[in-house]
Amino acid sequence: MPELPEVETIRAQLAPRLEGRALARVEILDPRLTRPYDLFEVAEELEGDVVVAVERRGKYLLLRMASGLALLVHLRMTGSFGFAPVTHERAVALLDDGSRLAYRDVRRFGTWLVLDGAELEPYLATKNGPEPLGRRFTPAWLESQLSRRKAPLKAVLLDQRVVAGLGNIYADEALWRARLSPLRPANALSRDEAVRLTRAIRAALRTGIQRQGSTLTDYRTPEGASGSMQEEFRVYGRDGQPCPRCRAAIAKTRVGGRGTWYCPRCQPSD
Ligand SMILES: [Zn+2]
Repeated sequence: MPELPEVETIRAQLAPRLEGRALARVEILDPRLTRPYDLFEVAEELEGDVVVAVERRGKYLLLRMASGLALLVHLRMTGSFGFAPVTHERAVALLDDGSRLAYRDVRRFGTWLVLDGAELEPYLATKNGPEPLGRRFTPAWLESQLSRRKAPLKAVLLDQRVVAGLGNIYADEALWRARLSPLRPANALSRDEAVRLTRAIRAALRTGIQRQGSTLTDYRTPEGASGSMQEEFRVYGRDGQPCPRCRAAIAKTRVGGRGTWYCPRCQPSD
């Protein structure tokens, strides 16, 4: 599933191709994409409008339109954008420069939601906590969120209202960098550990952005390239391989139903 670095990479590639362009035609091919709203109504709302900015909020892509409307896209498991025709197209936009933007989604969990300007921020506020690379994400914020939860640390980090954009990969990578066990009760962290974790989350996400995200199954950038972050994973998906820091074997467990990788020596659970 695309996380913050993957969505940010897609945003950065879409922005120069879309900003200032009109959506001359919009065709939505799958009713699941816009439900509970009618796909024809959503296509009609977008058609003829001009994209003024392509932004990202957590794992959401946000297209701001000249009319004041915003298209909020969540790629979920397998959503992606591209300029070449592909299989599993769920929507197509023809731009006024003649280019054709396709939205592809094999597993069909992605969503397109059109909101007006007044609805946008209240909607996002119910979904997303602070941006981890922004100024509102501080050790004090993280500590306040962790201190009220007894669940395993990793499970709390996956809550988008605690930190927006973090998912399974970068949560594991950040916990390894912070030398914290994913299994520790969230409310057992000290202030120093919360400081370490805040910095580790930022570092893990920045590395992901620099490598243009990771390419696992279906993720591709809009230009058709793959990211290289998967070559940089310290723990994610590496069970049995040596920890890059201490050479102990990386272990795999499950937290909240998600595969979780950690170093039992660097990240002790007590
Ligand atoms: Zn280690």
